[in-house]
Amino acid sequence: MAWNQLINHERIKKILQHAIIENRMPGAYCFSGEEGIGKDALAIEFARTVNCYNPIINDKIIDSCGQCKSCRLFDELQHPNLLFITALPSGTAAEGRSDSPLDKLTTSQIDQIKEQLSIKAENPYHQINIPKSNTIKISSIRQIKKKLTLSASHAGRRVVIISKADAMTPEAANAFLKTLEEPHENITIILTTSKQEALLPTIMSRCQLIRCEPLGTSEISQFLIDNYNLDGEKAETVANFARGSLVRAIEFLDDDVQLLRDNVVDMLRVSMKRNTFRIDLMGFIDEIVKEKDKSRVEMALTMLMLWFRDASAYQKTNSESAIIFKDQAEPIIKFTNYFKNDISLAVEAVEESIQLINRNVQLQLIFISLFIKLRNIFLKN
Ligand SMILES: [Zn+2]
Repeated sequence: MAWNQLINHERIKKILQHAIIENRMPGAYCFSGEEGIGKDALAIEFARTVNCYNPIINDKIIDSCGQCKSCRLFDELQHPNLLFITALPSGTAAEGRSDSPLDKLTTSQIDQIKEQLSIKAENPYHQINIPKSNTIKISSIRQIKKKLTLSASHAGRRVVIISKADAMTPEAANAFLKTLEEPHENITIILTTSKQEALLPTIMSRCQLIRCEPLGTSEISQFLIDNYNLDGEKAETVANFARGSLVRAIEFLDDDVQLLRDNVVDMLRVSMKRNTFRIDLMGFIDEIVKEKDKSRVEMALTMLMLWFRDASAYQKTNSESAIIFKDQAEPIIKFTNYFKNDISLAVEAVEESIQLINRNVQLQLIFISLFIKLRNIFLKN
């Protein structure tokens, strides 16, 4: 990758490149913005450029050469000046002070982590997905300290990237704050987060905040045409769903997501039955929540929300062209003709339940209360 291969964020690229050219890089940045818009990608590009042996400088623009040894090490995310920290699974035993974050993990877990990092190296937009990894632990933060106290083996600048920094446990966050408070030379720490409010204010106050805007629909659409061989129409449909997030757009292309959508539409169908809906509905819910995978639940509910949004658009315009899920046009029109209630209320209800996913509400309960709400919206007359 090079700067110009990263989508959008032109203003931020300029800020980062100027900082590198003028050698005025802060000790810590926080890249804040929605999930899936390329915050990690920007952070990696910064680290690559600042460490390149032969950077290409042209007026106010600086780019890595892509050829030198340092650049090649960055292609694998294996550069000794880079520390990439992400949420990892909890090990089986308690953590000791000297443990590496990998010490307590099984070989297959470590293999999964390596695999995910190598995909990330190839595609900086990849969302790292390691099962049961919800938190950044204190042992990962202690790695930073170790890294910073070792003398540099390479010229250049050491860069620590903490991806989804909001996942730090309270202990990890406090340990991190101590590290931030100590003076370090020739080091930049970059936090990336879509939940800036979840970070300690004392951490935030020590970081230069860079706000990353959502991506534009046309940029996402063009990326899908260039990289996923979609035709223009399909690319635009998917880009419309993505709400500014490239990662969300890519997820929509997954067959599994189509299946998930069909499942929630079936759930909606059984939940509208007059009598026996409970038993049928529980079967569906158990199936979706069995892995306790929050992102899967979020995807399922997002699909339902988009389906209702289509239905609501059709209800308002009476025009089939308002429907984005083209393959669902028939059931959507049928639903809209049958239920005369305001469908935008259903869109809101699903949006509210999506908000609950990350608030430690039991996943089954989210579905049950949502479908009861939907019954109240559609069946109350
Ligand atoms: Zn280079």
